Amino acid sequence: YLSRLRLTEPQLNSFIHVSDSVLKSAQEIDDKIAKGGGEALGPLAGVMVGVKDNICTADMPSTGGSRILENYRPPFDATAVKRLKEKGGIVVGKTNLDEFGMGSTTEGSGFQVTANPWDLGRVPGGSSGGSASAVSARQCVVSLGSDTGGSVRQPASFCGVVGLKPTYGRVSRFGLMAYASSLDVIGCLGTSVADVGIFLNAISGHDKFDATNFESLFASINLLESKPLSGLKVGLIRETLDDGVDSGVKSAINAAVLHMQELGCIVNEVSLPSFSLGLPAYYILASSESSSNLSRYDGVRYGKQTVSDELNALYAGSRASGFGPEVKMRILMGTYALSAGYYDAYYKRAQQVRTLIRESFKTALDTNDILISPAAPSVAYKMETEILFHVSWVFSSLVQVNVNLAGLPALVVPCGFVEGGSSGLPVGLQMIGAAFHEVLHSNISSQFC
Ligand code: GLN
Repeated sequence: YLSRLRLTEPQLNSFIHVSDSVLKSAQEIDDKIAKGGGEALGPLAGVMVGVKDNICTADMPSTGGSRILENYRPPFDATAVKRLKEKGGIVVGKTNLDEFGMGSTTEGSGFQVTANPWDLGRVPGGSSGGSASAVSARQCVVSLGSDTGGSVRQPASFCGVVGLKPTYGRVSRFGLMAYASSLDVIGCLGTSVADVGIFLNAISGHDKFDATNFESLFASINLLESKPLSGLKVGLIRETLDDGVDSGVKSAINAAVLHMQELGCIVNEVSLPSFSLGLPAYYILASSESSSNLSRYDGVRYGKQTVSDELNALYAGSRASGFGPEVKMRILMGTYALSAGYYDAYYKRAQQVRTLIRESFKTALDTNDILISPAAPSVAYKMETEILFHVSWVFSSLVQVNVNLAGLPALVVPCGFVEGGSSGLPVGLQMIGAAFHEVLHSNISSQFC
């Protein structure tokens, strides 16, 4: 993996920081094996893991993709990182992202642009674009990403890998830099459902440092318990296959549906009437929460500081020079939505829409075992910075953001290719389940792909 990384990283830029102690950590595991003392090795022993750079690591910088945290080194490991290290995983480095997770292309990083391994002129998706491109190019075995509104699933789809957004509360958020706390989850990317299942088991579980993290009510994933698909009820979400979806994506999804039927699934269309409302609700809620969460970056406590004798000038100068344009726009939007005269019109209404969405998912999942949709309405975009383009990626996140508003688990698996790049561009299928039903997901998809 290290030699792959050295070979491909100059073209890909998946990593903001590569660890200088990977070989030493691998050697320690080799030594343990050589000693043969009977000491049990963890399930991730020697596994090379990429960690999105908005997840804190004590021994490496953690920037959140933002210049405001350039050279920042947290004094602790995030719980997910601590757990993966305890199980023998080796953190190979910190992967690139859109600044603080805000974006869908990874072009919004304050440091570098990451390329899609399938076509170097295209984006890997985002915001966990570095984590997806690193796994896709086999620079590491698995990686951690974060998903507030699709940031694990859309890059997984664009890079042709498996990406899991777990149920909200399954994996501790302690040490994940907060974007929108009621939506943020840490997720996993890998090249197979089995790898992602093993990785999820390793990092999930109760953590007293995250008040929204559930007690271990859920079963851990046992891939050996894989069950036949015959009779499984699958709901294809009608609203995700409208005119805005590329024809190549539609064909790949249709082929996947046929394949599922051949395997015995009963596939029916299902309508979620409030689906389209998810996009405005998401952007109001995510911006509002981020305007509050990002107030901690004031130039006093972390990272970049503009020196001034006057306190307000110090805050303003540090924030003006440290944050990029997308982050500034979200802070302004969120502050506006939360301000006294507008709270009821925007924030409160968005919360009401969120309840409607959660209920419509519940109704659909009462009669279906899982719901499916395209993971994104298109394949990976060409690298671009036009403002119109920005609007198009905002709209295309509709298929993903509803799942975060409802807090449900969703798994993306590659399900076909459309023409493009040198060998075609991957299409992803999204499978959405009831809360804490990741076990069912892994049973289904490990047979399916
Ligand atoms: N496109 C979403 C946004 O910009 C992605 C967020 C995420 O999941 N981190 O908010």
